Amino acid sequence: MFNKRIKVKDLLQTEQTGHEVTVMGWVRTFRNNQFIALNDGSTNNNLQVVTELGLLDDATIKRITTGASLKVVGEVVPSLGKGQKVEVKARTLEILGDSDAEKYPLQPKKHSLEFLREKAHLRFRTNTFGSVFRLRHALAFAIHQFFNEKGFVYLHTPIITASDAEGAGEMFRVTTLPIDGTAPRTADGSIDFAEDFFGKSTNLTVSGQLEGELGAMAFSDIYTFGPTFRAENSNTTRHLAEFWMIEPEVAFNDIEDNMNLAEEFIQYLIRYAMEHNMEDLEFLDARLAEEEKAKPQNERAEFGLLEKLKFVVDNQFERITYTEAIQILLDSPHYKKKKFKYDVSWGIDMQSEHERYLVEKHFKKPVIVTGYPAAIKAFYMRLNDGCEPGKETVAAMDILAPGIGEIVGGSQREERLDKLEQRMKDFHIPVEEMSWYLDTRRFGSVPHAGFGLGFERMVQFVTGMTNIRDVIAFARTPKNCEF
Ligand code: ATP
Ligand code: MN
Repeated sequence: MFNKRIKVKDLLQTEQTGHEVTVMGWVRTFRNNQFIALNDGSTNNNLQVVTELGLLDDATIKRITTGASLKVVGEVVPSLGKGQKVEVKARTLEILGDSDAEKYPLQPKKHSLEFLREKAHLRFRTNTFGSVFRLRHALAFAIHQFFNEKGFVYLHTPIITASDAEGAGEMFRVTTLPIDGTAPRTADGSIDFAEDFFGKSTNLTVSGQLEGELGAMAFSDIYTFGPTFRAENSNTTRHLAEFWMIEPEVAFNDIEDNMNLAEEFIQYLIRYAMEHNMEDLEFLDARLAEEEKAKPQNERAEFGLLEKLKFVVDNQFERITYTEAIQILLDSPHYKKKKFKYDVSWGIDMQSEHERYLVEKHFKKPVIVTGYPAAIKAFYMRLNDGCEPGKETVAAMDILAPGIGEIVGGSQREERLDKLEQRMKDFHIPVEEMSWYLDTRRFGSVPHAGFGLGFERMVQFVTGMTNIRDVIAFARTPKNCEF
């Protein structure tokens, strides 16, 4: 009768007493040989289970340790303890799985996030990660709901591809050829990928966009939501080698429609979390406030987590051009005091320090930057008309978020065949191999636009977690592939 259990969250919401329930979960703490704090992951709030003296023999009592799993049948009674209306008076208690208190890594005390990263297989059982991963779930659900309500088709783009949407390195190769030097070679001595599993060189996808565009040219509105891979050796708090990305692609949208969609989407996700997961957000808000207290005054965040989220749903994002962004940086006291590590001039690919200055110091809110130099952006972005020679820009947009930096990268796509082919040649992209992509421009091409939102960066933004490794279950980063 395992399936008769009631979830702790549901039980704690009732005020009804006097009936019998079955609850199961893991022991968080056990006090005075009588009071068990039981958690089943449905909420951070533990259920208090009371075992009356005499109910259990000494041997059983010894086995009620932190981390042990229990099945309890008992009566729901009003609770005298603060913070809960009801508790369960145990009639029977069964230990489902023992947990050796000497060896169990999670003690009922505060552990550092670094320590818990090493114990990622158990960290879901802590309050912090309970909240983070319930929120991650809620956001994933909200993403589908948002697009479903708007009539988008969820398109599953391939994970193994032979194309490289970004046009440059940093990919994981997929091959079944031997790696011990015995792989077949062509006449000129290079590896003969014609002999490989797919008959060509393949890799893990860095983005589903190009395939997404094919879908948008039929369904008008599609989105993808799946894992993407980048072999970039960036050991930062916002890069993973395997991360999840949401990529809507919309026919008949221009860059402005694209910005509107992205802004509405982000605000919708935050609002959804605030409506459905307030308890977890409140927990993380308090957690962050505690963490901030340990920092020197000048390094503390201006807003608390909930304050920040409320602000973002209630206020429009700032919209500026790349050229304006560069001017703001050049005019900034920060620049004049030579505080940027990397130099600023029109044409640079803005560094994280520049982006953060714009959102955290200058505007203090999310910022959408458009009109980037064509030379630093991907080949498929639409060339803006009427640019000064040498100062060509594309209809790109990046959304920069406080505390995170770039959270969205998107653009209006180049729908004009001749211009697109020219851009591909400039970027040394083999036009023949991409013939399938160019077909969309040959047969009923339309203006269209889309963007990619990094899911983990969004989860970071909503949970306030500073390290991206703490918002994905099992992080893949350089030199790290545990679990
Ligand atoms: P960055 O400059 O931060 O490396 P990017 O310009 O490479 O980002 P895009 O190629 O535009 O990013 O990807 C779209 C979105 O995917 C980004 O805005 C970001 O939210 C997310 N993203 C990109 N790379 C990573 C990564 N390595 N780990 C996690 N999320 C990422
Ligand atoms: Mn990158």
